[in-house]
Amino acid sequence: MRFLRLVEYFERLEETTKRLEMFDILAELFKEASAKEIDKIIYLSQGQLLPPFHGLEIGMSEKLLIRAISDASNTPTKKVEDVFRRSGDLGETAGELIKTKGHNLPVEQVYKELLMVAETSGAGSVEKKVGLLSALLKGVSSKEAKYIARFVLGRLRLGIGDPTVLEALALSQGDRALRPALERAYNLCSDLGLVAKTLLKDTIEGVKRFHVKVGYPIRMALCERLPSSEEIIQKIGKAAVEAKYDGFRVQIHKDKEHIEMFSRNLERTTHMFPEIREATRDFIQAETAIIEGEALAYNEATGELFPFQITIQRKRKHGIEELAKEYPLRFFAFDLLYADGEDYTPRPFSERRERLKRLIKKNTVIEPSELFITDRPADIAKYFEEAVERGLEGVVAKRLDAPYAAGSRNFNWIKLKRSYRGELSDTIDVCIVGYFRGKGSRARFGVGALLGAVYDEKTDTFRTVSKVGSGFSEEEFTELKMMLDRIAIPHRHPRVDSVMEADVWVEPRYVVTVTADEITRSPTHTAGRDKEGVGYALRFPRAVGFLREDKKPEDANSVKEIIEMFEQQRKVKVS
Ligand code: ATP
Repeated sequence: MRFLRLVEYFERLEETTKRLEMFDILAELFKEASAKEIDKIIYLSQGQLLPPFHGLEIGMSEKLLIRAISDASNTPTKKVEDVFRRSGDLGETAGELIKTKGHNLPVEQVYKELLMVAETSGAGSVEKKVGLLSALLKGVSSKEAKYIARFVLGRLRLGIGDPTVLEALALSQGDRALRPALERAYNLCSDLGLVAKTLLKDTIEGVKRFHVKVGYPIRMALCERLPSSEEIIQKIGKAAVEAKYDGFRVQIHKDKEHIEMFSRNLERTTHMFPEIREATRDFIQAETAIIEGEALAYNEATGELFPFQITIQRKRKHGIEELAKEYPLRFFAFDLLYADGEDYTPRPFSERRERLKRLIKKNTVIEPSELFITDRPADIAKYFEEAVERGLEGVVAKRLDAPYAAGSRNFNWIKLKRSYRGELSDTIDVCIVGYFRGKGSRARFGVGALLGAVYDEKTDTFRTVSKVGSGFSEEEFTELKMMLDRIAIPHRHPRVDSVMEADVWVEPRYVVTVTADEITRSPTHTAGRDKEGVGYALRFPRAVGFLREDKKPEDANSVKEIIEMFEQQRKVKVS
């Protein structure tokens, strides 16, 4: 496929406001792609060169891109900056200034050159990157330049999520029934390009043969929630009850000496945890293994856990070694997914856990998470109180006979968290789909409130649940405005369902956590709307923290969860 052709698809995707049309356009695109190029087409459409777990960043700032455009179009940088100031979009700027016809390059060629830009590092790499990108821009047309420039800055704004790709892939084969098999393969390898390539090369039979592989992160299992220990026992019977640690979820992949770690969002986080890497090498008694657990700062002197605010300092590029000395981490291992050639994901939890325990040689960094087995609600309640007192988030109860449910949230794992009086017992993660400029003093920042939505898995859409106007500082509002304007789109995104008209619509991309007093029924929001047009809304929502960089849009809470929480809240009120 020619890159120009792909760009024409991008244009069509950008124009549509209809969800089904979006799937159709994507399906048509995938149908036209060959097995050799489909992976690249998928990565590019999602604004990346490789799945996030590779940790590859293109590393071009606006400033560098301006230089590349200036060089490619033979225009002084000052003029490029002027045009940019006018449009506010470096894509438009590149399109306006690059007027050549281009060589009608194949997608694979453009991809290869972009990959070269990304992979150039080390001394003198900045100049080299600018040179490579400018060479690429010299060979493309105005339209192509526009999308290349946007891509390079991570602002393609197409908002194509992973489930969207899966659905469109099945559609492209003319058979929606293929979706579960595609999804299963994706859950095991987290690489949509690889799944699609396998589908085209080896048909769906090849996709069905996918298995766990060390080095490819497995999409993580998540918890459902219930409001009381009684209901937990009622639901799953005798259960393993564990402390719920408030740190970073880490999936460790050990392949002999080679050790990698991945975050909840399947990004590579190996550099953040040098001491865990060493301990894995020395104390995990298997040649190859995939282990999951929670990493958090631990006070050696008092034996207490530090709050998340301390642990989160690890999220930085430099000075990790010093930080590791000041706040060493503990890794509480809670699951085993693979060991020495054996896929443990289909095995019951009790068996995985047993093997996990035997795998860990005693050391000071990695230890199994706290766990006991019970069928008595009173035991859970007591342990829960103690856990909260010790600064833990609550408890997680696990079904003893359940397999590891990659990529899904179900009652195999149930969390029980502290409940605040008069407030919802859990925070809610919403995806920002637009914003309102605000009135009065708020108008100063340009953002008065965000329009937040929850995820509807059935339709792959985001349905609004709340306007969030408090909880951010002045600086945060200013920063939000800047970040949101970069992903602004001229109309409601096709994956967004809303009756409210935002002042500015954005690509569904950022997630923010909010607390609220309660969930109410409301006609102004589309989450869980019934025939009468009444949906659900958050009462008195307040943002906690800034944007959740560890969450993808689809990791926002789901419509189903909002309805469940609404029901639970009613029960609690009655009792
Ligand atoms: P939250 O916002 O409450 O952290 P979440 O949506 O990120 O929720 P949940 O499904 O609520 O995730 O809770 C699962 C998370 O709890 C895991 O991703 C993991 O990081 C953390 N966790 C802490 N202790 C445990 C444990 N013992 N077993 C499983 N997960 C645990």
